[in-house]
Amino acid sequence: MGKIKVEGLKKSFGSNQVLKGIDMTVAEGEVVCVIGPSGSGKSTFLRCINQLEEITAGRVIVDDQDLNDPKTNINKARENIGMVFQHFNLFPHFSVLKNIMFAPRELGKLNEQQARETALRLLDRVGLSDKADSYPNKLSGGQKQRVAIARALAMNPDVMLFDEPTSALDPEMVGEVLGVMKDLASEGMTMMIVTHEMGFAREVADRVIFMDGGYIVEQGTPAEIFGNPKHERTISFLEKVL
Ligand code: ADP
Ligand code: MG
Repeated sequence: MGKIKVEGLKKSFGSNQVLKGIDMTVAEGEVVCVIGPSGSGKSTFLRCINQLEEITAGRVIVDDQDLNDPKTNINKARENIGMVFQHFNLFPHFSVLKNIMFAPRELGKLNEQQARETALRLLDRVGLSDKADSYPNKLSGGQKQRVAIARALAMNPDVMLFDEPTSALDPEMVGEVLGVMKDLASEGMTMMIVTHEMGFAREVADRVIFMDGGYIVEQGTPAEIFGNPKHERTISFLEKVL
């Protein structure tokens, strides 16, 4: 069964049609990396999957729930979908621990003690046990992004979406964040990752999707996409980035 199913997805902003008809399924435990030029609609695509953008046409189904069905409780469904952004978006006035505890407490998913235990366990998992009481402005970019991942995991999501999680990081910090993502992948998390890290995509992805101009132009295993791209636009993109 598909964990994420996208059918005929279209998204326009005014007269600008950004997604022009996307069909895709992500299987449970699958890791899909989305690559493509700037402006091709990658972020919009991810944002449509957790309904941060209202879709113009088509369907998005996560865990067998049609997110556009008026009967679906969208806030509930969204709790199942963790999202990590390029710019971390941590709450600056909360400690690291409070950042991670916030959503499960606010949404009543865990009691105070459970939320604290979960946060401490997740901090350990991302290698930041010693930063529980620090504030975000005292952390490096790589540490902030690892906290952001822990925060998303605190809701115990079934699916994790990453939008260029390492693009704002100094090069020496990229590895620590990709390492955490690699661990998640190997533990069986279903993941969609928009990334420019072609080495990571090659190593970790089960499938690579190349987007351009609001379409999925080509998709396949990393070996197929990086080793033997078929479409002219894929070839010319890869020539520029590899
Ligand atoms: P990518 O992530 O591949 O760089 P985006 O999804 O961010 O591409 O953007 C694709 C197109 O959608 C761009 O032309 C951008 O200007 C437009 N777009 C994205 N978000 C909005 C928005 N909130 N309002 C209007 N246009 C938007
Ligand atoms: Mg983007």
